[in-house]
Amino acid sequence: MTNLSDTGGNPRIGTALTSGATKALMLGSGELGKEVVIAFQRLGVETIAVDRYANAPAMQVAHRSHVIDMTDAAEVRRVIEAEKPDFVVPEIEALATEALVAVDEEGLAEVIPTARAVALTMNREGIRKLAAEELGLPCSPYAFASSLDEVRAASREVGFPCVIKPVMSSSGKGQSVVRSIEELDGAWQYAVEGGRVRNERVIVEGFVDFDYEITLLTVRVYDAERGKVVTRFCEPIGHRQSDGDYVESWQPQAMSQAAYDAATSVAGRITTALGDGGTGGRGVFGVELFVKGDDVYFSEVSPRPHDTGLVTLGSQRLSEFELHARAILGLPVDTSLMSPAASAVIYGTKDSSSVAFDSVSRALDVPESDLRLFGKPEGYAKRRLGVAVATADTVEVARANAAEAAGRVVVVDSADPFQQGAPETTAVPIQRPQPPLDDPST
Ligand code: AMP
Repeated sequence: MTNLSDTGGNPRIGTALTSGATKALMLGSGELGKEVVIAFQRLGVETIAVDRYANAPAMQVAHRSHVIDMTDAAEVRRVIEAEKPDFVVPEIEALATEALVAVDEEGLAEVIPTARAVALTMNREGIRKLAAEELGLPCSPYAFASSLDEVRAASREVGFPCVIKPVMSSSGKGQSVVRSIEELDGAWQYAVEGGRVRNERVIVEGFVDFDYEITLLTVRVYDAERGKVVTRFCEPIGHRQSDGDYVESWQPQAMSQAAYDAATSVAGRITTALGDGGTGGRGVFGVELFVKGDDVYFSEVSPRPHDTGLVTLGSQRLSEFELHARAILGLPVDTSLMSPAASAVIYGTKDSSSVAFDSVSRALDVPESDLRLFGKPEGYAKRRLGVAVATADTVEVARANAAEAAGRVVVVDSADPFQQGAPETTAVPIQRPQPPLDDPST
């Protein structure tokens, strides 16, 4: 691997499938990884997709793939030694991070953004302590607990309502809002069973009665002129969650200047702390923040593109996936917004080993809309199978149209009889662009 500072900001990209190929290995091959692979492919990079099951979305567009248990350090190391990638690009949290620390220390590959950042952010305890205790970032009150007695003590400290979450979990799994002492027992049981690994440790967080929540996509990128890694921000993304999982997102989210300044300050500090002080720590970070008035609270950070950032496929000149690929390779980025846009998730409705989508044409009849159907081999209720993205002159119209397009797609099993979909709804008026005034055909 060549150190970026030695290339004068002009890194060489070797062509895929030649002896000098530049290679990126994805650990995790879901829908976000699939878009990162496509971005790498467009820049001629050789891509290897890894996941725990065959035919995962990113595997369908990568040069090669491997199915391994990514929580097994020996297996992760074996695949990295066999593939000899320049970059190891984690896409999920549940990884054998000890293997990545060793890979990084031995210089086998560059772990994105750093092995330390990946290890710290996979556990809510690591990242919360860094944010609140080391950096002094504004957070809701919190305490950690490893038994029901400790949960009771923690809730007395934090107060009600509070949110109980397994320390090793994401997307709302095992998470509940608790309003009184009587609800603690059930919330503790739910958290212990819902974590990613069976781990009887939870965070008890003060409930933030926020006005809105945002993801601030923050890109750490090598700036050749200044000879160092600098921080760039995308426009704030607003989003709505249901049961801890994202349902829709939009960009830009309007914010007061004071709240915006606080948000960029928090995001800049947490992502800089996850860097290595040198040319490492590059890439996209999704910084999740709660906003109340002009006050901003740090919630979480993903050291990789964020699911709510799927909206950037429509809104930005370079999507968060293209920004990630460029930042990893040491290339310049452009975070500018091209148009207000929104995304709305398409969920599975039932168990199926042969998912199909009906009524796709009707969905794409919605003005300025687009779809990503992820190609997940198996569907089940509430599994994210696709997303609709719509652009418009305003965020409000984009949101209505993205929701309408997503709602028109009918998820079926390929054995089901053909469905044209539900009759056109009148709930959301579709906004059609007006023809230009000087259009001679009007
Ligand atoms: P998380 O898995 O921590 O990202 O939480 C998922 C979602 O739950 C967040 O995006 C919020 O909508 C909600 N949430 C999590 N923690 C809190 C909190 N302390 N106060 C209010 N809402 C929260």
